Amino acid sequence: MFNFENQHVIVTGGTRGIGAGITESFLKAGATVIATYSGNDSAAQNFKEKLAHFGHKLAIKKFNVSKTSEVEAFFKDYQNEFPTLEVLINNAGIRRDQIIATMTEDEWDNVIDTNLKGSYNMTRFAVLEMMKNRYGRIVNMSSIGGKLGLPGQANYAASKAGQIALSLSVAKEVAKRNITINNVCPGFIETELLADLPDEQVKEYKSQVPMKRFGKVEEVAHAVLFFAAKESAYITGAQLDIAGGLNA
Ligand code: NAP
Repeated sequence: MFNFENQHVIVTGGTRGIGAGITESFLKAGATVIATYSGNDSAAQNFKEKLAHFGHKLAIKKFNVSKTSEVEAFFKDYQNEFPTLEVLINNAGIRRDQIIATMTEDEWDNVIDTNLKGSYNMTRFAVLEMMKNRYGRIVNMSSIGGKLGLPGQANYAASKAGQIALSLSVAKEVAKRNITINNVCPGFIETELLADLPDEQVKEYKSQVPMKRFGKVEEVAHAVLFFAAKESAYITGAQLDIAGGLNA
């Protein structure tokens, strides 16, 4: 359905969960994918082995998206290794849930730094690459939580709303260069990010979703490839909920 032949795609957090699904979908659509991660070496190694049949079309890189110097170093190497950059997916993200009264400064900073500053770091350097060819597609993995807010997620919701606000500004800055930036806003998706939720809470959340189930990684990947497609040229600064009917 999608064709990304001859395109280079960076997927942050692309070795596990939703990111792994996105990486696989782009590979199947013909792209060369640079999937990044920050710490879980064994998951990255397993992922690489599982997709070994894609050969040199899949590269795995390790760095922390919240550290500007590491992102800068990644892009320096990128320029030596890959000719162009067509697509960036800002997917790396974490949750550190806590009610506001007991949320520590670290819990606040870690979530904002990974989810929001990480998107700033990656977008900043990616835009410089994309401007060279006057073409680019950026997709942020925001969340329905950034629009709805959930108890215990002030840090997470702020970071996810921040990604949307970031893209509204950047969309206007880069529109003339044929670079688009959009957001997908998943609801509850079956990944390890939700593995720590108690059974009772899972039941409660599922009951709130009109479709009465959590979403699948492939269902999010489909929307990401849609925004990243050449044909989606006139869509920028937009948000798409993938949340089984749960909406703001
Ligand atoms: P996940 O399974 O926990 O995977 C997170 C990925 O991000 C991992 O590859 C991880 O690397 C990487 N990562 C984390 N911190 C990083 C950092 N500082 N620098 C670079 N990479 C980092 O999460 P997921 O459920 O797939 O979520 C992916 C995205 O979707 C997140 O932005 C999340 O907020 C968003 N989202 C998820 C849901 C959901 O229900 N699952 C709903 C809405 C939005 P390691 O493997 O090295 O740890």
